[in-house]
Amino acid sequence: MNREQENTKIILDNFRAYIQMYREWGLEGVSISFPNKNVEAGPRTRPEKIGQPQGVAPTPVREEDRGTHSKSYALAALRDEIGDCTRCKLHKGRTHLVFGTGDPEAELMFVGEAPGEDEDRQGEPFVGKAGQLLTRIIQAMGLQREKVYIANIIKCRPPRNRNPEPDEIETCSPFLRRQIQIIRPKVICALGNFAAQTLLATGQKISQLRGRFHALPISFADGVPAEIKVMPTFHPAYLLRNPEDKKRVWEDMQLIMRELNIERVTEAGGRVAGGGAPHPPATTQPGDLQ
Ligand code: URA
Repeated sequence: MNREQENTKIILDNFRAYIQMYREWGLEGVSISFPNKNVEAGPRTRPEKIGQPQGVAPTPVREEDRGTHSKSYALAALRDEIGDCTRCKLHKGRTHLVFGTGDPEAELMFVGEAPGEDEDRQGEPFVGKAGQLLTRIIQAMGLQREKVYIANIIKCRPPRNRNPEPDEIETCSPFLRRQIQIIRPKVICALGNFAAQTLLATGQKISQLRGRFHALPISFADGVPAEIKVMPTFHPAYLLRNPEDKKRVWEDMQLIMRELNIERVTEAGGRVAGGGAPHPPATTQPGDLQ
């Protein structure tokens, strides 16, 4: 096979897998979008129905790969659909659109507010100082950052890190909703006032919301209605300024660990269930939550 034939084969294989994913969800067509810089396309919540392509046989997907494949393809398709987004004014000042990162199979998803300067530069959420603290919190829970999914309500950095404005939230948050619908996490940890208030559609403050689970009603891509448990907690950037509240965040993380049956392996090789560790976890590496 020459290079051109190889490329064609890769494109066809990807297309088959994409079709397969839609079949798995019981949908009748595929959504194809071409980013058009001159058109302000509004976010769509459902794939458009178009005719079924002729003569494309589905590629068998191994049972054990099914979920992972379809979720990562669906996320990639969503990222393509967002494209080089110009749907709101934030595109003018951004370097990178920050889509989200992590395991499409994650049971736990963290949702923050919007990219900051470091995230805008690198195109990845939570990579600055606050992000490093978030990584240590995740590790203290006995998890790896790559095994959770991290995203923001807003995908482009607001100028000088100002608060996102209502039109920006309205335009961007449907994409987060679709990420949630694809990933289907068991628990979402909402970081800070803004994420918690937007996800839960409430004006209540994070100090009132944190410490217990709230239900986020959502219908999944196959139309099945469900509720995801949302744990609001303080934003890591707030924790950098108010370290005395780290113990409250750790209490919230323990509730999540209990819900997800997460055990931490201790330095002595034992296992500590989510509820077993007082604040701060005795077995966390020194400075983990500093
Ligand atoms: N703060 C956020 O809310 N999100 C990021 O990605 C980084 C900082």
